[in-house]
Amino acid sequence: MKIQVVGVVGAGVMGIGVAQNLSQTGHQVILVDISEDILENAKKEIRNNVRFQGFFQKNQQAESPDNILHRIKFSTNYKFLESAEFVIENATEKWDIKKGIYAQLDAICPEKTVFAANTSAISITRIASVTKRADKVIGMHFMNPVPMKPMVEMIRGYHTSDDAIATAKELLAQMGKECILVNDSPGFVSNRVLMLTINEAIFLLQDRVASVEEVDKIFTSCFGHKMGPLETADLIGLDTILFSIEVLYESFNDSKYRPCPLLKKMVDAGLYGRKNGQGFYTYSGAT
Ligand code: NAD
Repeated sequence: MKIQVVGVVGAGVMGIGVAQNLSQTGHQVILVDISEDILENAKKEIRNNVRFQGFFQKNQQAESPDNILHRIKFSTNYKFLESAEFVIENATEKWDIKKGIYAQLDAICPEKTVFAANTSAISITRIASVTKRADKVIGMHFMNPVPMKPMVEMIRGYHTSDDAIATAKELLAQMGKECILVNDSPGFVSNRVLMLTINEAIFLLQDRVASVEEVDKIFTSCFGHKMGPLETADLIGLDTILFSIEVLYESFNDSKYRPCPLLKKMVDAGLYGRKNGQGFYTYSGAT
């Protein structure tokens, strides 16, 4: 049976993509964030992304941005999530923030609602421990940009039930996506490898071993990757990279995850990457 109403928490880089994708696959979406300004910006971004996607895919039958926005309710009020059959959480990668959100969701949403955490590194078992429905909490690690990426890393927490996994797979299929199911561990498979690679690439830059372009070119030209690690870091957001590597450092108590000082400095200086126009590279047209 089709899941009709999906709550999306967090309207940043990932929440915007998840909400857009869900609306494009015919779902009713309730998108919640903490300020009207952020939600206004999300509306603008979705409008631009839908236009760009139509142009890129040359799809004459594509739905208009107005129709897609029409299926999304933008709100700062969690109360509207009481009608959500499924919730995908995409808030800032900070435990203190996520902890508060799951306690609220648990109090507001119907008992049967499944919660999917789109976290980069925080343990799903830890997130589930804040709720009274640990069997219905799952990890759904979407790739960026969400509407263009067909594969999702799905994470089974310690208590996640087979029913919750089946429901999550069903929703992903409705969104036109497949998944790879892995067991819970901070950073899962993708980010235990990727965050170390990016952090080490930033150390190379800090140690003046090579320039930004040279580091990335080794990966694109020698290994055939679509993007080098520094351009990937800009796409993800340097703040999110720092928060994720800090989560790995705290979770494993292992110094191999210590964040590079240059990464910290760039985040302190407000260089977040593509989302605000300046990271390792400069971007025009950022909002
Ligand atoms: P972002 O900084 O762009 O957006 C985070 C949003 O969460 C912000 O709009 C913020 O206002 C909102 N928020 C903070 N507290 C909130 C609250 N109490 N209630 C509702 N909203 C709240 O970050 P992002 O890149 O969209 O990342 C979101 C999540 O997705 C993180 O956990 C991140 O690790 C994960 N993730 C990111 C990527 C990526 O490429 N950026 C990929 C996969 C997963």
